[in-house]
Amino acid sequence: MELKNNVYKIDGLNVLDLCNEFGTPLYVYEGKTIERQYNKLAEAFKDVNVKIKYACKALTNISIMKYLHNLGSGLDTVSIQEARLGILAGFKPDEILYTPNCVSFEEIQMAVDLGLSINLDNISILEQFGHTYGNTVPCCIRLNPHIMAGGNQNISVGHIDSKFGISIYQIPLVKRVVDACNINVTGLHMHTGSDILDADVFLRGAELLYNAAANFPNLRFMDFGSGFKVAYREGDVTADIAGIGKKISKSFKAFCRDYGRNLELWFEPGKFIVSESGYLFVKTNVIKQTTSTVFAGVDSGQNHLIRPMFYDAYHHIVNVSHPKGTKRIYSVVGYICETDTLGYDRQMSEVKEGDILAIHNAGAYGFSMSSNYNSRYRPAEVLILNGKAHLIRKRESFEDLTRNQILIEI
Ligand SMILES: *Cc1c(COP(=O)(O)O)cnc(C)c1O
Repeated sequence: MELKNNVYKIDGLNVLDLCNEFGTPLYVYEGKTIERQYNKLAEAFKDVNVKIKYACKALTNISIMKYLHNLGSGLDTVSIQEARLGILAGFKPDEILYTPNCVSFEEIQMAVDLGLSINLDNISILEQFGHTYGNTVPCCIRLNPHIMAGGNQNISVGHIDSKFGISIYQIPLVKRVVDACNINVTGLHMHTGSDILDADVFLRGAELLYNAAANFPNLRFMDFGSGFKVAYREGDVTADIAGIGKKISKSFKAFCRDYGRNLELWFEPGKFIVSESGYLFVKTNVIKQTTSTVFAGVDSGQNHLIRPMFYDAYHHIVNVSHPKGTKRIYSVVGYICETDTLGYDRQMSEVKEGDILAIHNAGAYGFSMSSNYNSRYRPAEVLILNGKAHLIRKRESFEDLTRNQILIEI
């Protein structure tokens, strides 16, 4: 989104016109930004055989997935439903990695039947997998290298208490199970969480995976997960992708030489690919001044964007109706009957009732974590491609709230 002559535009389209046409609250994604991020990552790792598997839990709209498929991406999924959406969007099953956690063995069998690449993250499931399939179905093993990424325990999944992955210290047991059941392990995987800034975190994890690889002679790929940090506020440091790319590619090539085969290097970015592409546009219903605070109350809230309340995440907010007004301080709050703060103590151009506000970085974990809490409708979604707006999800209606409810005879 850029401000030109006092008008905010996305790929040449006036955002106020978009809000008029599609209504608010509205999720808008800019295709160009998704492409830029995808290419940035692909470019950084061009010296190795890199495969990018978009982690679609960040934003699961099938048109977004189709767009990423067209860019050359594969898919990382965490549920059988995500995988089915991916197939609907045009992905071939073998382009989809299925990385579940704590799902039933029946669901894993469904994933095998669909032809997905299977990533297993606990030993009990690995054993069942071996007993059921022997070496007829290849699998990847998710290891937990016990590396802390970022500072937030809720988004760092590699620490010692994490429920994800098989501890790197359990490799001997993994090896026993694999040998006993004759399991064909073709990939090793780690995903340590979000907000990784430098190559060192990846490299420390990578070293552990390289060492583990000695136990598995049939590897075709290594998956280093995700976690590249993106900027949420002005001045935020972001991951130096080009630098990370150089260092990791170098170490990976050295590993491949030692291992004796050129493996593929996989990444599964979600946030990095779609976060910055997305905006949530909301309308200011009321300005409410209390003794201590000026609230801008908007027609959305934690039901549509839960990250501020759930993770204490910062999302930049600007007044797109009046970009150049006098700066004042607001708490931007939603209409949900909870504290429901979207932005606390924000300096913004003076907000009047009816003004449209843009919440930034709403592409990742925005719509996909939204709910119907307070019996509100989920917003519409629009994708902008080549200066043209495409409606990719209709706004919900009352029927959506009642569809599966049953009013019984009492
Ligand atoms: C969530 C998730 C990702 C994506 O994480 P981002 O921080 O959005 O990049 C990648 N891999 C796995 C297994 C995940 O669960």
